[in-house]
Amino acid sequence: MSEQMINSICPFCGVGCGICLKVDKTQRRLSVEPMANHPVSKSKLCEKGWSTAYGVSEIDRITTPLKRVNKNFYPISWQEALTDIAAELKDISAESGPKALGVISSARASNEDNYAAQKFARTVLKTNNIDHCARICHSPTVAGLKQTLGSGAMTNSAKDIFATELILIIGADPTENHSVIGGHIMQARLDGAQLIVIDPRVTRLAKLSSMHLQLKLGTNIALINAMLHTIIKENWHNSAFIRERCSGFEQLAQQVKDIAPESVADITGVSGEQIKAAAKAYSQAKRAMICYGMGITQYVSGTNNVMALSNLALVCGHIGKPGTGVNPLRGQNNVQGACDMGCLPNVYNGYQPVADPQSQEKFTRAWGEVAREPGLTSLGMTKAALSGDFRALILFGEDPVVTDPDQNHVKSALQKLDLLVVAELSLTETAKLADYILPAASFAEKDGTFTNCERRVQRVRKALPELGECKGDWQWLQALAQAMGSTKLNWQNSEQVFDELASLTPAYQAMTYVKIDQYQGLQWPCTAQSPLGTEILHTKTFPIGKAKLIPVNYVEIDEDIDKSYPLQLTTNRLHFHYGCGSMTRKSPLLERETPPGILFINPKDARRYNIHQQAAVGIKSRRGYVETRAMLTEDVPEGLVSMPYHFKEAPSNQLTNTAQDPVTKMPELKACAVSVFPLLPP
Ligand code: SF4
Repeated sequence: MSEQMINSICPFCGVGCGICLKVDKTQRRLSVEPMANHPVSKSKLCEKGWSTAYGVSEIDRITTPLKRVNKNFYPISWQEALTDIAAELKDISAESGPKALGVISSARASNEDNYAAQKFARTVLKTNNIDHCARICHSPTVAGLKQTLGSGAMTNSAKDIFATELILIIGADPTENHSVIGGHIMQARLDGAQLIVIDPRVTRLAKLSSMHLQLKLGTNIALINAMLHTIIKENWHNSAFIRERCSGFEQLAQQVKDIAPESVADITGVSGEQIKAAAKAYSQAKRAMICYGMGITQYVSGTNNVMALSNLALVCGHIGKPGTGVNPLRGQNNVQGACDMGCLPNVYNGYQPVADPQSQEKFTRAWGEVAREPGLTSLGMTKAALSGDFRALILFGEDPVVTDPDQNHVKSALQKLDLLVVAELSLTETAKLADYILPAASFAEKDGTFTNCERRVQRVRKALPELGECKGDWQWLQALAQAMGSTKLNWQNSEQVFDELASLTPAYQAMTYVKIDQYQGLQWPCTAQSPLGTEILHTKTFPIGKAKLIPVNYVEIDEDIDKSYPLQLTTNRLHFHYGCGSMTRKSPLLERETPPGILFINPKDARRYNIHQQAAVGIKSRRGYVETRAMLTEDVPEGLVSMPYHFKEAPSNQLTNTAQDPVTKMPELKACAVSVFPLLPP
């Protein structure tokens, strides 16, 4: 038996745990073990990581290009698919201009694939209409931290969890979503670290915390501003740090002057005493770190929520040192990398603005003529599709029908396109709407890199040959560019793609595959000045000189409850599943852990609406209707219900609201109004 062990990286969440793919090449069989002594996962994996092999198995894989004829898909050759798609793209561009075309790339795909996708959009289609699912997870992080600190990423490293006195978790549920980091936090707590959890739900970490501030949905800024008020009033702030490294303190102090903790108790649902106690513990700890997730970003005030957290860390001087920082826990395995690679409509790779003449000149020199105006976001593309202004979309590795807000709206928009091309492993809900489906290679069938949430660029290695006619994403994008008559994408292997992207991405400048291998990954910035990467950002200075303290005001969530919709709905994720479930739900082991759809409801609300444990329930919002089963639990407070979005049988995004953060167009996925009622037995 020809068995081999190949080191790679888990393809699920942004923790980026090291896995060993154990391959029996003769039988194309794969199994997974944790990588020994990996710098983040330290020889551990969560259940999702252990189940990786199921996600990429042959079962239900698409293995040949498919073309829709009426309602059915028929296999065609790559040559036929590429020739037809190229001709249609050219026709649409000639009729409606390049702005009618766009690409949605994938936070699940490699840096090489994402670099190729944005270069394809910008140089072949000649549009900046390029985006990916960071739009609906951490786009406010990129925008908010870029403004305040000059860099939109986790400031510290995962290992800092073991170097801190206090961990403040806000709007994040790490034991479910970033399980290995969640495990590190539990260990740090057992070792004596203080743990403050700010969350409307009673998460597992909330149960272990020293303080749980169970705030009302969407009232983060009111609570943080009240903490800032207390810290400044009690003189608990770090004056030396503020004087030397920050600007804007006077304006911030003035703005929070009247926001006493007692004055926001009704708004937040948290008592003045609790807010003061949290402010004291956080500000007086020698080292304290903030970790946050989508309970901060997925609001109409997402960018301001992020800036409020940055204000809190800066005022206390908890930044630029071990065991401190503002640390967004990024969702997908490579969402940090997809952002770094410029799969955003307003920046090239390395966050170099498309509207900046210097960046335009740099990229014109490297690539030739490029589109100059910022493009449409992913939600902007679907909106423009409904009005007929946007006509052709190439999408890979994402399933917006399941993951984006207001599912009916997304479906109608995709159905209106003249051309929808989807590259996927299996027939997702979005792929079902495509005109062409391209068979994509899985992460185990290609070489490349992923960048985890602590900015660590790590190697992914080809362990299996491509299944059937599957191709890696940069390979089919290159073939499509060539079918359109362009030679802009012209690489022989993934290493050549990486060398090109590193040469044009300042923070990746000094990285090579050889060095990444040698040092078990490199954390950016990795430059001539920091050739072995950077574990902690902002130790001496910020990229913008002094950090900015920017006052922000609390705004209410967009949709109010009323008589017809008397409950608030929030969304959450479950430990055993990932994203739209297209990979994790292939695992019978994970699938048996939870029913396919759950509504978490407080027993008092359940009694009020005559709903019993495990009973079938209907949930209605102003946008849609879903049926699922009820789980009675005090982990959600009265007045709030919660649903995961992994299950196509009970898609919570039928219900969610599309109201957006004005800065990043992030939809308010964390809050909408619903009614809930029992379904009568048939
Ligand atoms: Fe994979 Fe994330 Fe689990 Fe690690 S914590 S094994 S990266 S899903």
